Amino acid sequence: MSEDQEDRSLRADCANCAGLCCVAPAFAKSSDFAIDKPAGRPCPNLRADFRCGIHADLRERGFGGCVVFDCFGAGQQVTQITFGGRDWRAQPELAGPMFAALPVMRQLHELLWLLTEAMRLPAAPRLHDRLRDARAELRRLTELSADELTALDVDAQRRRVNPLLQQASEAARAGLRRRPDHRGANLIGRRLARSDLRGANLRGALLIGADLRGADLRLADLTGADLRGADLRGADLADALFVTAAQLAAARTDETTRLPSSRRTGQSPGAAPPPAAGPAAPSPDGSPSPDGSPGPDGSPAARTAATRSARRRPRGC
Ligand code: SF4
Repeated sequence: MSEDQEDRSLRADCANCAGLCCVAPAFAKSSDFAIDKPAGRPCPNLRADFRCGIHADLRERGFGGCVVFDCFGAGQQVTQITFGGRDWRAQPELAGPMFAALPVMRQLHELLWLLTEAMRLPAAPRLHDRLRDARAELRRLTELSADELTALDVDAQRRRVNPLLQQASEAARAGLRRRPDHRGANLIGRRLARSDLRGANLRGALLIGADLRGADLRLADLTGADLRGADLRGADLADALFVTAAQLAAARTDETTRLPSSRRTGQSPGAAPPPAAGPAAPSPDGSPSPDGSPGPDGSPAARTAATRSARRRPRGC
């Protein structure tokens, strides 16, 4: 698979998905979701063609959680590859297996995205062989059958990949004299405006509602950082590490925010972000899940919307 094909496969392609993220997860009525919805029940806004009926107004209609969820291309992989293009509406007996496979596939795709990101870091060439091997192994797992996927120990895959990702991060930040360590720190609501956070380790940090206006986050490792409501206006994240479109979509940015390129955040130019049912969360052991999005239960979390221009393009794009 070429790098371009790899990129495309890790971007949500709602046109080739059977609306899995709009059905499989449960929604809890909250600021993110206007309704309660049990797992496995279709969202009432999901149309017959598997597109969102309110995609242009998701936030206004109380479905902001849908705007900040990213399946990393897992939806189309499950629909088109694992189930060969079949869908749960035409064949209701497939609903359970499809919905069970989705969170597993999502985590595999998320790890694939992180490894791909690591391979693009300037200081990582010496790790390329190992990164490439790890990616190939994960790619092989994405081709498992539905039964094999649901039996897969995804946490073991995370444990295998995480040290490699951390080595890539260390290598990328090695040239900086000062590298603040805020790994897993509780920085909720903290005033960090104009802070020098270059090269900071912010893996798994809780930055909910933090004031990061004008902060310098170049080469900061934001793996799994919870940026919900963080104010990033004027902040420089142009070469921040492992920052996803979903993280950015959950934060406050404007035209003065320097964002990573859309290629690096994983946003397809017209991609649709699928829905979410829960906040980004660190792993149970306190270490960040590689990108901090969904937990091991596959509960959805942040949703794609990487670039400002594409930020609010939910399902149905
Ligand atoms: S994107 Fe959200 S609101 Fe739209 S159909 Fe899917 S779950 Fe429902």
